Amino acid sequence: MIARPHNIIGIVYDYDHTLSPHYMQEDTIFRHCGIDAAEFWSSCTALIKEKGYEQELAYMKRLLEDERTRHLSNADLARMGSDLVFFPGVPEFFSELETVVRNPRYAECDLHLEHYVVSSGLKAILEGSRIASYVKAIFGCEFDEDHARISFPKRTISHTQKTQFLFRVNKGLLRLDQDVNDHMPEEARRIPFRHMIYVGDGPTDVPCFTLMKKHGGFAIAVYNPQDATRRSFEKCYALARHADRVHFIAPADYRAGSHLRLILERHITEIADEILERQRQSLEAVRVPAPLP
Ligand SMILES: [Mg+2]
Repeated sequence: MIARPHNIIGIVYDYDHTLSPHYMQEDTIFRHCGIDAAEFWSSCTALIKEKGYEQELAYMKRLLEDERTRHLSNADLARMGSDLVFFPGVPEFFSELETVVRNPRYAECDLHLEHYVVSSGLKAILEGSRIASYVKAIFGCEFDEDHARISFPKRTISHTQKTQFLFRVNKGLLRLDQDVNDHMPEEARRIPFRHMIYVGDGPTDVPCFTLMKKHGGFAIAVYNPQDATRRSFEKCYALARHADRVHFIAPADYRAGSHLRLILERHITEIADEILERQRQSLEAVRVPAPLP
């Protein structure tokens, strides 16, 4: 197996409450189909508590049962994706971050910046959203279809399964028919963990935060500064203060000059500098001095 150049920086984002202040179903399916969010989520909680359902299977089952939603197709979900509401700066910041790696000092490195979304929400909605054109891959729960109607969960991604997708990004195995558990030596992996950043919002991201920290990656937790209950901030505070899960916490504001942007741009610079230094060192190592005349 060939060694990779390791000139790619990969940022992986959670979606709900990380890129958006809402659960994606609320901006899309609930709004279009007239569903009360609190009622829907509490009916899911009942399935989880009383019948032991997994969270993702619970909401997918409810969507398949409800007469207001069961006629939907994946194309309908994708169309609704254009109604998603994001935190400030999303999605423009994805391309604005490019300016960091386009700095002339990295010209010799052929640097690339890639974005990925891993969500326990619905992939079809994200694929129809304005985010889709900026990201290399979107992973999420998926419905199969029967006669152009959602019919059965084809794939679910729970918060513990999310870590599998960090390994997919790390190994470059983005097609889901590729076995992510195959052994792959470090030098053959597409994006080393030390060149990866994970952005999430709370306890459901703990397995990903932990994996990133363990393997030398970078972990940031974001909170909604508009949340008057402060629950969003409290989750982040606990992650940083009591659990040592993340490197930084910041308000979910992706606009230029925000705290989060400063952290992201600073860390991308740090990775880029490391890539530049390594490439120079390996060139130096193979350079053969010209024979003396
Ligand atoms: Mg989230």
